[in-house]
Amino acid sequence: MISEPEILDVREPPGKATGKVAELWKPVEGTNKIMCTACARYCKIGEGQVGLCGIRGVHQGKLWLYVYGRIITGHVDPIEKKPVSHYRPGSKIFSIATTGCNWLCRYCQNSDISQRRKVEGIEVEPQDVVRMTLEQGCQGLAYTYNQPTIFIEFARDIGMMARKAGLINIFVSKYINIPNADPIFQTLLDTRDTKKIHIEITDLIVPQVGDDLNAARKLSKWVYDNLGPDTPIHFLRFHPDYKMMEFPWTPVETLEKHCAVAKEEGLKYVYIGNVSGHPLEHTYCPGCGAVAIKRYGFDITGWYLDKDNKCKKCGYQLAIFGRLERTAKENRYYSVLYHR
Ligand code: SF4
Repeated sequence: MISEPEILDVREPPGKATGKVAELWKPVEGTNKIMCTACARYCKIGEGQVGLCGIRGVHQGKLWLYVYGRIITGHVDPIEKKPVSHYRPGSKIFSIATTGCNWLCRYCQNSDISQRRKVEGIEVEPQDVVRMTLEQGCQGLAYTYNQPTIFIEFARDIGMMARKAGLINIFVSKYINIPNADPIFQTLLDTRDTKKIHIEITDLIVPQVGDDLNAARKLSKWVYDNLGPDTPIHFLRFHPDYKMMEFPWTPVETLEKHCAVAKEEGLKYVYIGNVSGHPLEHTYCPGCGAVAIKRYGFDITGWYLDKDNKCKKCGYQLAIFGRLERTAKENRYYSVLYHR
């Protein structure tokens, strides 16, 4: 298990207030500090300091979200890359991120974005992001590459405009094996109980430190008991990156064992990610075991469902929302932003 630092990481603020006054914060009684409530770290931040994520800081007695109106990346991705396999397959998704993150994972696969503590990127208002999404012919947006909770006020404003424009929103949020992951599980339960939101679970399997099959069994059982057997789960292959260059790629056999455990616990849709060409990229019909959706990497190469998403072989109703999107055959992987 990788331990996270307990202390607030105080960095240099941008020097002037950029962005917008944040909404999720409250004064800490008896001090001149402010508690940020955007994530479960609850940083207590003094004047001129920033929180662990590096993008929320106190300026003249108020908490500012320095990256409001600024994105560091904008990329069209296949929805399957999020990874989301059971919601409007074949969609194009405009994927954005700000700098910063409330996690310091040594294995981060997007460290250039998430561990950057400078407030950088191009200036965009929420309506600009929605306009770019529509211009690219995307069905929706994803808040991804870093932990989007840290820029939640910005994401919310974009998301509400996007919704009005008929777009879908994908929030790629992070669970990690920290001593107390209760807030994350509680969020999933609240989401289940109060929102109509499609949920898929992803587990990056890091060799030697994050490949415990008992943990996979515990997670799978929790998903089965609380989110139901139709919830897709993806076990992703780690590749050496950032501060874990000495670690090997996850052996494919390890990923297969994780999938076997999840299936034993009753989950019906279990996937391997980041291993192009592996048979566990496909969706199999839980009724008869036939391939229902064939994939290669992020591409859909075969669709064997009828108009109601029932298996063509046995008639089983698969838990897939939406039909195969017409964009499935388009180029769904390119950068949109050009930095100035
Ligand atoms: S969002 Fe950032 S500043 Fe706020 S509690 Fe989390 S890490 Fe701290």
